[in-house]
Amino acid sequence: MDYTRVINKLIAKQLRDWDLAGANYAALAGAVTRTVSLGESTITLQFNPERRRSSAALVGTRPQSRQDCFLCSEHQPPRQKAVLWGNRYKIQVNPYPIFSRHLTIADLHHVPQQLAGRIGDMLQLAQSLPEFVVFYNGPRCGASAPGHMHFQAGSRSEMPLCGEIDHATTHLLADGDEGFIGYVDTLGRGLFTIETSTMRAAERYALRLLDLLPVKDDGAEPMVNVLCWWNKTDRSWHMAFFPRCKHRPACYGEGPGRLLLSPASTEMGGLWAVPVKEDYDRLTPELMRSLYDEVCMSRNDLNHVITGYSQRWEYVEPI
Ligand SMILES: [Zn+2]
Repeated sequence: MDYTRVINKLIAKQLRDWDLAGANYAALAGAVTRTVSLGESTITLQFNPERRRSSAALVGTRPQSRQDCFLCSEHQPPRQKAVLWGNRYKIQVNPYPIFSRHLTIADLHHVPQQLAGRIGDMLQLAQSLPEFVVFYNGPRCGASAPGHMHFQAGSRSEMPLCGEIDHATTHLLADGDEGFIGYVDTLGRGLFTIETSTMRAAERYALRLLDLLPVKDDGAEPMVNVLCWWNKTDRSWHMAFFPRCKHRPACYGEGPGRLLLSPASTEMGGLWAVPVKEDYDRLTPELMRSLYDEVCMSRNDLNHVITGYSQRWEYVEPI
């Protein structure tokens, strides 16, 4: 079912009736942007001072428990409304936007952020929101509420990667009648790309990839940022997986020589919301590349996944 109309209505009502959302979306509409070229990719930098308060407030506390969770209904402002999706998620307007339409899609229950059992939901959500890109931040690489399962979604036309991936140089790992999975390392950060004509095939490629990616320390799942979208025109599913090795760069912080940047899905997708003007002015292609290099797994780190995928595929395919 296409949720575009009902979601557009929700956004229009929230911007009218909820002052916080109204003010922040109006501020975003006037935000200054510029672009930085990185390999085959063009990164958009957005100077967005509102994110300073929200980042500090949300990421600083990173609520785990129900008592201080801003995604649990009992702690949300009465003016924040929701559209139910299935019997599992509520779709809401994100009051601290990076996109002109920015949604939070949270589980109805306070359960931990994890991808296991959710890939199918993500693909279906993408089909319900064809003008959006749905994204997932792992609990240790960008999720602002790791205690409460949630996705986000933003206007797809504003996420640079979604328009670039079709033309990117792709190293094919496995393919079949229903699509393929490949590895791309010419966009300034390494990613696995999946494109299929069926939801089932996308889920199968994704689950095998997650199975092969390393799990660090005591983590329950590989550190990943994931983007997912559905192309209504040719009815194709798309996923991009960014394996991470680190949550934040060592220079994270405020003051001389520091950068208040904590990369997650949107940054992996090529859209950086920069809350500090000095940081916004300072970012060069070289600096962007070194930030990606520091927090993303390298081609070397992923060699066993790249070679292992095709071997694994041959072995598992007959099932
Ligand atoms: Zn919660």
